[in-house]
Amino acid sequence: MTSTTLTTLNAQVSLGSRFATEFPELALPWQADEAPEPKLLALNLPLAAELGLDADLLRSEEGLRLLVGTAVPEGAVPVAQAYAGHQFGGFSPRLGDGRALLLGELTARDGALRDLHLKGSGRTPFSRGADGLAAVGPMLREYLVSEAMHALGIPTTRSLAVVATGRQVRRERWLPGAVLTRVASSHLRVGSFQYAASTGDTELVRRLADEAIARHHPAAAEAENRYLGLLDAVLEAQADLVGRWMLVGFVHGVMNTDNTTISGETIDYGPCAFLDGFDAAAVFSSIDTGGRYAFRNQPAVLQWNLTRFAETILSLLAETEEEAIAVATDRLNAFPPRYVAIWSAGMRAKLGLAPVEQEEVDALVADLLPLLQAGRVDYTSFFRALADAGRGHADPLRALSDDPALVDEWTGRWRAFSPDSDAMDRVNPVYIPRNELLEEALDAAATGDLQPFEQLLEAVSDPYTERPGFERYASAPGEPGPFVTYCGT
Ligand code: AMP
Ligand code: MG
Repeated sequence: MTSTTLTTLNAQVSLGSRFATEFPELALPWQADEAPEPKLLALNLPLAAELGLDADLLRSEEGLRLLVGTAVPEGAVPVAQAYAGHQFGGFSPRLGDGRALLLGELTARDGALRDLHLKGSGRTPFSRGADGLAAVGPMLREYLVSEAMHALGIPTTRSLAVVATGRQVRRERWLPGAVLTRVASSHLRVGSFQYAASTGDTELVRRLADEAIARHHPAAAEAENRYLGLLDAVLEAQADLVGRWMLVGFVHGVMNTDNTTISGETIDYGPCAFLDGFDAAAVFSSIDTGGRYAFRNQPAVLQWNLTRFAETILSLLAETEEEAIAVATDRLNAFPPRYVAIWSAGMRAKLGLAPVEQEEVDALVADLLPLLQAGRVDYTSFFRALADAGRGHADPLRALSDDPALVDEWTGRWRAFSPDSDAMDRVNPVYIPRNELLEEALDAAATGDLQPFEQLLEAVSDPYTERPGFERYASAPGEPGPFVTYCGT
């Protein structure tokens, strides 16, 4: 099918080629692989509406071809993006989209640009011997977890669709293949800047920084030095992001610099997971043998990644390198206190406490985490059960800990602050994608039964409202055992 026969697609979908045109140094025009038998597994209707995309069009033959990248509207220039990255601390100068493509930019209903992007669309010049493909399970996993994060109010890339390709993918065994159609406010990463900086072309770095300001942090343009404004804005967005991850108990799993966005959106859901029984040292990823990206390390890792970002724009920050390093260091040092402030305010809200007596509340929070750790208390259930305890029903809370007496003692101190249980229920989720339930849903999906996936998606899409029929999604697993997820390749 040639583009001239794509009548509906051309008439209804307008896809820009802004990145492809303005950053040819970072964009390799490329085509998605054919999908022998495309079959729609998941379609995000609210997101389609936000993007002004017609659901019937997306479900049509042309629509499915758009979602897997084999048909694009006239004028679109799909590209594989080049980027570098520190992976587990080691620098790779050339990573890039090895199994992904940027189809182009859409203008959403709110007027803002969104990237339309594919994951699992076939080999590219960045594939480095890997197959460029993705299996159904990990793509549905990204779809579900990213939508859960969105519903929790956490900035994230979104998932528009998962389409099975009809092609088999070879992993430990043969698995059905799929393409995830992803939507992001952009795919600019710390790794994009690292790649640009490594070319030695400072004008390219400047243009990329200007693009980041235009697309994500327009207020930075008002700063005395707009690039310092950009650094501040990225620091703020990422402090907010990691604060939200920590408050909800999210472990990203692969916080490499290529998986750290300039926009402050969560990106690249691989071996991520939510804490169940609280463990500050929790690691879920089978490849993270050293625990570099353990739950408690995430804020420090992010600061490390942002330091790598600052290094790429040093030439834009001041006249001399010495001055630039001094000013960047100063800004980076502001990250830990900023993170702590976000964490403290968030914890106060989770505990239903008014914004007074900060020091006492900080002490209360400081004593809480060892308590949760010692009793391996289910992190998500704890805050809802605590709200119930505030209403006079303490049994569910006591049942969560191996040592109820310890919980009683702490709860007594907490009550003295007159907590607001209803306010707590508005910020503490009932439903998160619990590891076992998610795996169960993905296993069923692999056999062709999408019902458990859809049911879990429905639960996590409205995470704060307890509903009848969803009880099993709300309860802590009986035996919080070691749970491992494998890199989503
Ligand atoms: P990720 O861990 O998904 O962020 O990917 C890290 C790098 O590996 C990126 O450059 C990806 O494009 C590449 N990559 C991951 N999986 C595959 C695959 N199956 N085929 C080709 N490249 C891949
Ligand atoms: Mg990645």
